[in-house]
Amino acid sequence: MPRRALVTGGSRGIGAAIAATLRQDGHDVVIVDRTIATTGEKGRDHRAYELDVSQFAAVERVLAEVEADGGPIDILVNNAGITRDGMVHKMDPVSQWQAVIDVNLTSAFNTVRCLVPGMRQRGWGRIINISSISGLKGQIGQANYAAAKAGLIGFTKSIALELAGKGICANCVAPGFIESPMTSAMPPDALRREAAGIPVGRLGKPDDIAAIVAFLASDQASFVTGQVWSANGGQYL
Ligand code: NAP
Repeated sequence: MPRRALVTGGSRGIGAAIAATLRQDGHDVVIVDRTIATTGEKGRDHRAYELDVSQFAAVERVLAEVEADGGPIDILVNNAGITRDGMVHKMDPVSQWQAVIDVNLTSAFNTVRCLVPGMRQRGWGRIINISSISGLKGQIGQANYAAAKAGLIGFTKSIALELAGKGICANCVAPGFIESPMTSAMPPDALRREAAGIPVGRLGKPDDIAAIVAFLASDQASFVTGQVWSANGGQYL
């Protein structure tokens, strides 16, 4: 059944693929992003809004505007994320640690806090949080990112339990290495080394993740909640 969906960080990479796939499935998809390149889009079709998801007051204001403009959001995909890699003994407490926790973890609380009351009232909802293989196994140079992505898993399992009786499912998807602007910023040698360690013999594609999100967002996924769906080409089992 077509619904209204919100994808954070939906203008590029994995988020753009998720938004496109949900649109193909017939959903009305809104994206929010820190910067929206096509500024004309908002006024025209109510589908793109500028928002820093790490700021609660801004999330509250913009999501109220999104729902007032086009109706309630039933599918929430928390995809926005950043990396600020560095070894822990050199990590800056603000620009690396706090920034990554705020954008990758606190953002999910912010959107869930604002949208879940409506989902509870309507008795239907899907929350899909994009975690990471780093949150499952840890990663050198990513103590901040791995902590945020692991935190997202605990957060998701807890809200899944809180919301299970209300028709709302909450799940994580944990991608491995996916071709996107985030990974193309990695040093080529490091990326080649990671790719060589993937049993299926390739990096993932944004569509590999979007297909899973589309299922978890569907009516058919009503018995799936509190789970972590890994898609990493067998890199971490
Ligand atoms: P990406 O290409 O860097 O895209 C991230 C998106 O998030 C961008 O559109 C960015 O918008 C947005 N964003 C960043 N900070 C934001 C903020 N404060 N408020 C609103 N939007 C913000 O990354 P990606 O590779 O597609 O990754 C998407 C998600 O998958 C992330 O959560 C990432 O951690 C996760 N993931 C990725 C991989 C991978 O290999 N690529 C693996 C595991 C998990 P701006 O351009 O405006 O900054």
